[in-house]
Amino acid sequence: MKQAKSNLAFSENNLQTTFQMVLDHVTQYHRSVSDFDVMPTVSQDDIKKRLRRFDFNNADRTLEDIIDLLNDIETCSLNVSSPNYFGLFTPKVLLPTIIADVLTTAYNPNLGSWDHAPYFVELESYLIQQLGEKFGYPDRHRDGVFTSGGTEGNLYGVLCALNYSFNRLNETGIQGIKEELTVYCSAEAHHSVVKALKAVGLGSKTLRMIPTRADLVMDTKILEIRIKEDLTEGKRPLMIIATAGTTGAGAIDELDRISSISKAYGIWFHVDAAYGGALIFSSRYKKLLKGIDHSDSISFDLHKWPALAVGTCVFLTRHNNILRQVFEVETNYMPRKTKQATDPYLNSLSWSRRSIGFRFYIALFFFGWKGFEELIDSHIRLGRYFSKVFKQANWKVIQVSALPILCFTHPDLKNRNEKVQAICDEVVGSGKAWISTYKIYDQLYFRACIINSDTRKPHIEQLLELMNNKIRLSNTES
Ligand SMILES: *Cc1c(COP(=O)(O)O)cnc(C)c1O
Repeated sequence: MKQAKSNLAFSENNLQTTFQMVLDHVTQYHRSVSDFDVMPTVSQDDIKKRLRRFDFNNADRTLEDIIDLLNDIETCSLNVSSPNYFGLFTPKVLLPTIIADVLTTAYNPNLGSWDHAPYFVELESYLIQQLGEKFGYPDRHRDGVFTSGGTEGNLYGVLCALNYSFNRLNETGIQGIKEELTVYCSAEAHHSVVKALKAVGLGSKTLRMIPTRADLVMDTKILEIRIKEDLTEGKRPLMIIATAGTTGAGAIDELDRISSISKAYGIWFHVDAAYGGALIFSSRYKKLLKGIDHSDSISFDLHKWPALAVGTCVFLTRHNNILRQVFEVETNYMPRKTKQATDPYLNSLSWSRRSIGFRFYIALFFFGWKGFEELIDSHIRLGRYFSKVFKQANWKVIQVSALPILCFTHPDLKNRNEKVQAICDEVVGSGKAWISTYKIYDQLYFRACIINSDTRKPHIEQLLELMNNKIRLSNTES
């Protein structure tokens, strides 16, 4: 790869050769990923060294350099694409969606304005309508925006709730609000909710984390009592955030009940469906989300269960002018508005933005809605299988909903939280599988989530054998 005069020389032929190489490498990686350790064994120093080995003052690269670069990525990354990764919602991506990112970078549409990316802006608006319909939002009222993740989606929820309750917020800001605001979520909610409140200047003091019942679902009796107390004290309840599929154990709050409470008190109802929202694709299991159609807004991560690349989430709302109310600004340098179409920069926090929804479009293009249904249903079946075989082997398994998150422990580990953590660290360190731990009412459990589309019964059986061996060893030691 001899460079011509310009330092920026990179011919189309060069692109083709490099691309072919990269593609071969990536294909080979995906073909053999189950042979790799899930957890890399490199040290931080080693990674730093590898990153610094390419001289940026003399960027004259050979094909070997490119091979080195590709190998570094593989050697120094957690192999979330492995079927033995029972982890934190990071999927192996649906393979053809890799094409979406390549094309997006190749054509570089800027989704700030309609005229710079008409195809991609219309595509996202089409998908927002389709998803809004799936979740049961009424036609002509639904709206939304693709976001980088559930955290940003939850931030949108808070911003919409604020502007809905205070329609002059655009001018007065938070300082114009005289009452003390309160926000409600369950004690099992994701802490991105706390971040969202901090980001809008409300602070964590606003938040009431409502205790859960034994099954880790928000106790709606306590919720209602707290709302009444806050009202009596002159506070202003702003929003309730329900979780559809908690991060820890997969609990689904009672959306129907919470929707009634939010209606009765006139409070914005946001559903954090970052993980569990994918149930909407399953005709068999979408009933678990009953009541979500009555919510005011939803955040749903397409980069978790639906297996798209990290950076793909959707925020949906049933109020079609609220995003505009939150974000609209006037400029004289942006292209003039096109008839009927909204420029996304007027409707969202971002200005220049990459196409996010295209990954989802490509997935639907190749697999259709049925593909997502198959993914969800098969993972739920595997979750049940996991629970069955572990129970048969004398493990205690907690599965609070149909969602394939399993919290499990062994009778020999009762009240031995440190030992549970130590065994988990050993399993992860061995590279044979990736699991985590989660505390439920002071008891530490192993946590495994079926999130990989290649995970099959034998992978679960291997994990069981690995765990059984750990228990046997730990018993002979003590
Ligand atoms: C993962 C998760 C989030 C955060 O989403 P990101 O995409 O990581 O920003 C929020 N809520 C729940 C319930 C989650 O599981």
